[in-house]
Amino acid sequence: MITVEEYQESVLARVEPLAPRRVPVAQAHGLHLAEDVTAVLAVPPFTNSAMDGFAVRAADVSGAPVSLPVAGDVPAGTTHPVAVPPGGAVRIMTGAPLPAGADAVVPVELTDQPPGAVVLPAAVEVRRAVAVGAHVRSAGEDVRPGDTVLAAGTLLGATQLSAAVSAGHGELLVRPRPRVGVLATGDELCPPGTDPGPGRIPDSNSVLVAGLVREAGCEPVVLGAVGDDPERLSEVVAAALPGIDALVTSGGVSVGTKDVVKAALADRIGFTKVAMQPGKPQGFGVLDGRVPVFALPGNPVSVLVSFHVHVAPGLRRLLGLPARLPLARARAAVAWRCPAGRRQFVPVVLEDDGVDLPSVRPASAGGSASHLVASLAAAEALAVVAEDVDAVAPGDEVGLLRWS
Ligand code: AMP
Ligand code: MG
Repeated sequence: MITVEEYQESVLARVEPLAPRRVPVAQAHGLHLAEDVTAVLAVPPFTNSAMDGFAVRAADVSGAPVSLPVAGDVPAGTTHPVAVPPGGAVRIMTGAPLPAGADAVVPVELTDQPPGAVVLPAAVEVRRAVAVGAHVRSAGEDVRPGDTVLAAGTLLGATQLSAAVSAGHGELLVRPRPRVGVLATGDELCPPGTDPGPGRIPDSNSVLVAGLVREAGCEPVVLGAVGDDPERLSEVVAAALPGIDALVTSGGVSVGTKDVVKAALADRIGFTKVAMQPGKPQGFGVLDGRVPVFALPGNPVSVLVSFHVHVAPGLRRLLGLPARLPLARARAAVAWRCPAGRRQFVPVVLEDDGVDLPSVRPASAGGSASHLVASLAAAEALAVVAEDVDAVAPGDEVGLLRWS
């Protein structure tokens, strides 16, 4: 058996971030930036009005009320705004460039003009004085060209994309979303919602792994369930490889008579025993020099644990993110038993009543057995118990691996 860290290291040593790709901004939502984004445009790009009203020289309205002749009109989008002559005003709309000569905007509400008037008046009565710079948005007030707007590694959401566009970008260099093949194995599996019949069970791992893949920011490519037939499995894997960046299989990796994944892939990937519970048998390798394959054991709880402990760090590496998440701490709310010599990962429910640390209890009343799949629905994290601990008592400190 090798330690959890040794195994994680051996996996990460063979996984490279996917090559970054330049994509239209509209396709970058939910992806991670692969480089710093600096402003090409200033934000705002030119000095403009923050209000609908009249552009003036502040000095000309200091004695308000005062009537000024209106020299022109500047709607938003104007390319050649008229200048404001001394002693005059120019009607201006929000977002329109401030005319030469003007240093302030008088909102329409502070004039004798009705808001929304269509006809340009010959003169405007300004009823209140305004300061220099009033209702004027200065070019570069938010960002200047060359300023860093977004840092490499940023997860691009709605506001990050709008910032990039405002700063002049139409495309962004991002890490592509890894496409992750999801393959279940076992003669006993039947599709969701069908009557299993004697000796068969629903394939719950396909949706489990596909969901975990999606929650990890990757795109699942569901390959379905194959029976315990190594030739069939090899065919499915060969057909899927060109369209995927990683593969996660479940089942068929231990020492049973029908260990299909082992039989099909043993000459191409390595199988080993990791000192952990659950999830001891693990397979990993790189197919076609490009596609990391995680061959997980079949028990759903083993799948969940193996995913968070081994697959998720690999997927984060593909995404160009730090592979390892920091381990938090928690306190056990109840007692449970632990296997000697293996690190234990227990799906737990958080009871956030701890004054110092959150307290946790196993999600499955029946203990940590790896077939208790329905109780997994309540789990919010994994409690992590060291190899040399053989029993956890209420109040004991444990590690905590959160996934949300
Ligand atoms: P295996 O590693 O193939 O021997 O599977 C271990 C256990 O996990 C067995 O009880 C299987 O029936 C169960 N199992 C394997 N694959 C799945 C699956 N896709 N969905 C639900 N249970 C599974
Ligand atoms: Mg099986």
